[in-house]
Amino acid sequence: MRILVSGAGMAGLAAGINLGVTGNDVTIVERADHLRVNGSPVDVRGDALDAARSMNVLDQIHARRVTMTERSQFIDADGTVVAELPVSEISDSEDDIEIPREDLAHVLHGALTPTTSLVFGESIAHLHDDGAGVDVAFASGRQDRFDLVVGADGMHSLTRRLTFGPEGDYLKHLGFYVALTDLPAQRGGDRESSFLNWPGHLIGIARYHDTALGVLNFRSDWIDYDYRDLDAQRRILLDAFAGHDEWRVPEILDAVRNDPELYFDSVSQIHLPTWHKGRVVLVGDAAHCASNLSGRGASLAITGTWLLAQALHKHQGDLETAFDEYETNQRPYATRAQDSAGPGGDLIMPATQQALDARNERLRAMTRG
Ligand SMILES: Cc1cc2nc3c(=O)[nH]c(=O)nc-3n(C[C@H](O)[C@H](O)[C@H](O)COP(=O)(O)OP(=O)(O)OC[C@H]3O[C@@H](n4cnc5c(N)ncnc54)[C@H](O)[C@@H]3O)c2cc1C
Repeated sequence: MRILVSGAGMAGLAAGINLGVTGNDVTIVERADHLRVNGSPVDVRGDALDAARSMNVLDQIHARRVTMTERSQFIDADGTVVAELPVSEISDSEDDIEIPREDLAHVLHGALTPTTSLVFGESIAHLHDDGAGVDVAFASGRQDRFDLVVGADGMHSLTRRLTFGPEGDYLKHLGFYVALTDLPAQRGGDRESSFLNWPGHLIGIARYHDTALGVLNFRSDWIDYDYRDLDAQRRILLDAFAGHDEWRVPEILDAVRNDPELYFDSVSQIHLPTWHKGRVVLVGDAAHCASNLSGRGASLAITGTWLLAQALHKHQGDLETAFDEYETNQRPYATRAQDSAGPGGDLIMPATQQALDARNERLRAMTRG
C-alpha cells in the first residue's frame, strides 16, 4: 500500500518502521524542518519493550538509557534538599527504560527502512477520502494519492481535525501546563535533578548525560492562545513565574526568553470513541494522548504503531477489520495510561503549602525506609 504518515515524532517514526517492514511504501511528512528532538527523557515500558525488540531497536534503546529519575530531589529556595523522589513513585518496574527523547528519535530514525521516505517542512493542507483512496493536497502545493493516511501529528493533530472535527470535542485539560527549555550554561556540574516548588508551581533543572533542561510546571485552568505562537507561550510562562528570583529561577526564565526550541503545552488528554474513519487512522498522541504525567506517551506510540502494522499485514486489503483489531488491542494500553496520569500533578506540584509539606514528609518517610 502507499501510506502517508503525518508527523515525525515518536509515533510517526515508529509507524514508518512498522509499516515499512511489513512491505508498504511509506511517506512521512513533518511540518518542522528538522526532527523535533528536544524534551526530557521519556520511558519505554511494558509491552512497548517487546514491540521495540520486534522492531530490532531494543538493544540500541538499552544502550542509551539514562537514570534521571533515580537522582531527582526537591529543594527549598536556598537549594537545600527537602525530599528525594524515590524511583518507585515514577516507575512500575525495573525493566522500564528511561531514554532521552532525542536519543529515541535518532534510534527510530536510523531504523527506517529504504521504503520509507521522510519529507521535512511539509504538511497536509487538505484530505479527500473517496472510499478507494485519499487525495492529499500538501501545504507546498504538491498533490498525491494514497491508500491510507496515518495521523501521527501529536496532541494538536491536524489530521484529526480534518477527519474528526475540532480539537475541543476531544481534548480534556488536566489543569496543568508544562514547559521545557535547554540550559546550555548549566551543562556538566551537578548530577542531581533538582526541583523547587511553591503551591501550584514547580521549576527546576533536570540533568542526564551532559544535558541540563529547565523544567516548568504550573496549575491553571485552560488558557486560550495560539498553541504555535512562541511569543504567546513565553508571555504565559513569564507571567506564571513572575515575582520569583530565588535559587536558579532567573536563569531558567532567561532561557525561556531566549530558547528558539522552547517546548510549552497544556497537560491534556485526547479521548476519541474511535481512531479511524474511512482510510484515515490515528496513532500516538493524535489518537489517545495520555499527557506527560502518564509517562507512557512514547510506549503507546511504539505499541500502537506495531499493532496497527501487524493488523494491516494480517488482514491485507480489509482496512475496516484491521483498524478494528488495532483499536481492540491498543485501547487497553491507552486507557491504562490515561487512567494513570491522575496522581502525577499532585506529586510534582501540590496545590497548597499544606499539601506540599505533606508530600515532602511522605517522601522523606519513604527514603528513611
Ligand atoms: C518538542 C516536543 C517535546 C516533547 N517533550 C516531551 C517530554 O519532555 N516529556 C513527555 O512525556 N512528552 C514529551 N512530548 C510528547 C511526547 O513526544 C509524546 O507524548 C509521545 O512521544 C507520542 O508522540 P507522538 O509522535 O504521538 O506526538 P509528538 O511527539 O507530539 O509528535 C508529533 C509530531 O508531528 C509534527 N506535526 C504536528 N503537526 C503537524 C502537521 N500538521 N504536519 C506534519 N507534522 C506535524 C510535530 O512537529 C511533531 O514532530 C514532546 C513532544 C514534542 C513535540
